[in-house]
Amino acid sequence: MTTDVIVLGAGGAGSAAAYYLARRGQRVLLLEQFAIDHPYGSSFGNSRIIRYMYDHATYVGMAKAAYPLWYALQDEAGERLLYETGGLDFGRRGAPTLEATLNAVKQFGIAVEQLTPAEGMRRYPQFRFDDDMTILYQRDYGLLNASACVKAHVRLAARHGAVVVENAPVIRIDVRDGGVEVVTPQGTHAAERLIVTAGAWTAPLLAPLGVNLPLQVERVQYVFLQAPNPDDYRPGRYPIFISHLYESYEHVPYSIPDYDGAGVKLAFHGGEAVASADEVNRAPDTDAVDKLRPFLRDVLPDLADAPARETHVCLYSMTPDHHFVIDQHPVHANILFASPCSGHGFKFTTLIGSMLADWSIDGKTEHDLSLFTHTRFAAHESVT
Ligand SMILES: Cc1cc2nc3c(=O)[nH]c(=O)nc-3n(C[C@H](O)[C@H](O)[C@H](O)COP(=O)(O)OP(=O)(O)OC[C@H]3O[C@@H](n4cnc5c(N)ncnc54)[C@H](O)[C@@H]3O)c2cc1C
Repeated sequence: MTTDVIVLGAGGAGSAAAYYLARRGQRVLLLEQFAIDHPYGSSFGNSRIIRYMYDHATYVGMAKAAYPLWYALQDEAGERLLYETGGLDFGRRGAPTLEATLNAVKQFGIAVEQLTPAEGMRRYPQFRFDDDMTILYQRDYGLLNASACVKAHVRLAARHGAVVVENAPVIRIDVRDGGVEVVTPQGTHAAERLIVTAGAWTAPLLAPLGVNLPLQVERVQYVFLQAPNPDDYRPGRYPIFISHLYESYEHVPYSIPDYDGAGVKLAFHGGEAVASADEVNRAPDTDAVDKLRPFLRDVLPDLADAPARETHVCLYSMTPDHHFVIDQHPVHANILFASPCSGHGFKFTTLIGSMLADWSIDGKTEHDLSLFTHTRFAAHESVT
């Protein structure tokens, strides 16, 4: 066997897994159905939020492990991947998710500043905060240049010896004695082990192997607005934010400052369910920006009528509980799979890549992945 492990899918998680596997001396084949850094999955674009601010301690712990890995990758890649900006979480006083977030980060000694609405508006005059709001500031909020991260992982994986094949869609996975074979239109590839990191395409790839994952694909849009005074929306003058104003707006509005001239990014966390990743209307529409206007009028009035420079379509893979899936095939231990999504997985992809590499090579990882087991969806699984 000339290949130790095949990584199926070179998005956020797969590119990272290939990098850590190759760095540990494995003979890696990384297969991608499109070109590297294509815009059809979940990891494309100039920004994804990285943060400690989670209402679940497991993710705070994972963020503590992920930050240093991103900095190490940045050093090895010799390019800036992570931009620190500082960030806000705000909502009505006593909002359960704000309380839960404070409790979770406190367990890890993460410093959080509580601002009054007046203090929040003094620091960030772009915002309008009501008197009954809680404003939390956390300085380690940052953005990752997602496309650059994927390309860096792939480039360094190749530098460590990985073979990267683009435009090679895997159409079938066959389990063979002591190994696996994956079939593409260009040919069949064999290896001892397989890691499936196929994002929104994961469920239909694993179902023939008897693993049925309840992943709901969602079409999500995000917009870049042309701010009337762009300098007011640059890192340092404008924070990343996540609004916990659930009772007032359909979804969770969030925003990322304009660090590269693309405009200030705004979006809702969530989108419309679609039948499959191959049946997505890829043409952006005005739906996302139209839905954001009421929130902007209330909280960021200068942006209320700002024109949308660009709108992009992207995919979420949602689990019913919004936690990731990172697990091993129940029968074929040489097959691992991971879908770190539900709209919040990119920040962890380099960490999850390292976990998958260790698990694939050593048969185990030091990290507790019990939250991410696929058997939690027991009702959905039937092993033949
Ligand atoms: C609009 C939007 C905003 C987001 N914001 C954030 C954020 O701020 N912070 C954050 O942490 N997360 C965020 N996320 C979530 C994050 O982007 C995803 O969790 C992450 O990108 C998932 O990575 P992945 O590797 O699982 O999927 P992908 O990157 O989609 O990778 C899967 C890859 O597998 C390939 N593939 C699939 N099937 C096959 C096949 N048969 N053969 C070969 N290749 C195949 C695909 O082409 C793709 O390249 C956001 C997501 C969206 C859509």
